Amino acid sequence: MTRWLAEYAWLPEQAEPTPDVLIETAEGRISAVTPLAPSGRPDAGVDVLADAVRLPGLTLPGLANAHSHAFHRALRGRTHGGRGDFWSWREQMYAVTTRLDPDSYLALARAVYAEMALAGITCVGEFHYLHHGPGGTPYDDPNAMSAALVEAAAHAGIRLTLLDTCYLTASVDGQPLAGPQRRFGDGDALRWADRVAAFTPDGAHARLGAAIHSVRAVPAEQLATVAGWADRRDAPLHVHLSEQPAENDACRAVHGRTPTGLLADHGVLGRSTTAVHATHPTSADLNLLGESRTGVCLCPTTERDLADGIGPARRMADAGVPLSLGSDSHAVIDPFEEARAVELDERLRTRRRGHFTPAELLTAASAAGHAALGWTDAGRIAAGDRADLVTVRLDSVRTAGVTPAGVWFAASAPDVTQVVVDGRVLVRDGQHLTVDVPQELATSIAEVTR
Ligand SMILES: [Zn+2]
Repeated sequence: MTRWLAEYAWLPEQAEPTPDVLIETAEGRISAVTPLAPSGRPDAGVDVLADAVRLPGLTLPGLANAHSHAFHRALRGRTHGGRGDFWSWREQMYAVTTRLDPDSYLALARAVYAEMALAGITCVGEFHYLHHGPGGTPYDDPNAMSAALVEAAAHAGIRLTLLDTCYLTASVDGQPLAGPQRRFGDGDALRWADRVAAFTPDGAHARLGAAIHSVRAVPAEQLATVAGWADRRDAPLHVHLSEQPAENDACRAVHGRTPTGLLADHGVLGRSTTAVHATHPTSADLNLLGESRTGVCLCPTTERDLADGIGPARRMADAGVPLSLGSDSHAVIDPFEEARAVELDERLRTRRRGHFTPAELLTAASAAGHAALGWTDAGRIAAGDRADLVTVRLDSVRTAGVTPAGVWFAASAPDVTQVVVDGRVLVRDGQHLTVDVPQELATSIAEVTR
């Protein structure tokens, strides 16, 4: 058993952090949580605390990155100066895919997931669609790329939900995949399901979920096949939704309804489903999402980078939609930046402040994200939950003088000093214990951008 003594810890249902919290962990789980204030010490006094590991600063539960495409990290700083939009960026993204194979993707994803660990992320949802070799020819093991991502997360020390993505067409009206997109496709949803059924993630750190790339990439009559696969396994189901107005327009033209309406018609929405982005929903769409308790994963730093727009986050939450966060294209990997953007983007839109409480931002970054990825026993500092502890310093140039609840508006990823995942220390003194993250990022990105 390990005893941790947190200077501050953010406990469930609390509006702000609690000072002097004793957290006991054993076999990867939190076994007890004891606030010591106001007396400052339990009855047994010094003896109980003598062997406790001090956690100076604020300790948060493990943070979840609910939407990732690991290889997009190779584009950071390479596409940001130019003109264009989501669609022109996508062409540059496709160019990187031509360099990726199971070995180079393992190296890149390992470095990216380790970068996430440094930022306090203990679990990632990998929305994975780069399945096959050049031209769409399957590898000898047709799930070799999936296996590489699972192994990468193991090396980096974080949990992973592999959201195996069905990607069949290039447009809402069913244009066939062409060029680099052919590596994404399985032909039809039944063959997608057969391939995924043959894959078992290696390791207790990983679980399998499903994804529909978007209404652009899965024909309407095949949506239920993917949704049914996830439903039968009680697995999370994710889908890109209304990231672009063009997607809404095309869907209305072909199907006479919005993408959200189409997903509802085909049984895709529900408590196990997470819509990614939902930047351009109608009021009726918000009702469909809220009534079905479908989650939404917001990716504000990507949405700003790609000039996508601002999703109606507060209206979604008010409609009953659980919100989670993702770094998506990895223009930035910083859960603090992602979380405060949810509030700050609302301010820009409404010219008013104060839409989300700090506790709501924490929930989106932790428990809601874990739940969206199928890990319902993580993301809270509570007895019985997984022993994930993320400690943020309160004495850096960014955080000195800040009240602990203010970290969401003041801290950045480099303020994370220690990360514990499933009871194991992964990051100490701001350093990943097994991966030289900057070096491995540089090497692996050079390999795929030559
Ligand atoms: Zn995405």
